[in-house]
Amino acid sequence: MENCLFCKIMKGEIPSSKVYENEYVYAFRDINPQAPVHILVIPKKHLSSLNDADKADDRELSECLRAIPVIAASENLSNGYRVVSNCGPDACQSVPHLHFHILGGTQMGERMA
Ligand code: AMP
Repeated sequence: MENCLFCKIMKGEIPSSKVYENEYVYAFRDINPQAPVHILVIPKKHLSSLNDADKADDRELSECLRAIPVIAASENLSNGYRVVSNCGPDACQSVPHLHFHILGGTQMGERMA
């Protein structure tokens, strides 16, 4: 997708702090971290949110999910972490390319909203 920020990041057109990449997935540090570890995991295929799940191959989605524990282990999040995917305006999604936030490195609150 031509004007998508995360597509540009994934292609290297905009710099990012990459932490993981494979054929299907790209992951990088959030520019405005909300926890000591804050990483974004995106599918390389442009999907605007989980609402586009039916436009993806199962592999594209499953590779995102499989990457998450691999990244968590490499970031030493053995005591736990949180995964969030904001979907649409009520959830304050600000970048319309599906992404999973990995948040960790601190004790988080019980409330999620
Ligand atoms: P969301 O609000 O769920 O759509 O999350 C978008 C996330 O992208 C936010 O946490 C932003 O801090 C992050 N973000 C925006 N621009 C960049 C960028 N250039 N590099 C890394 N993270 C970014």
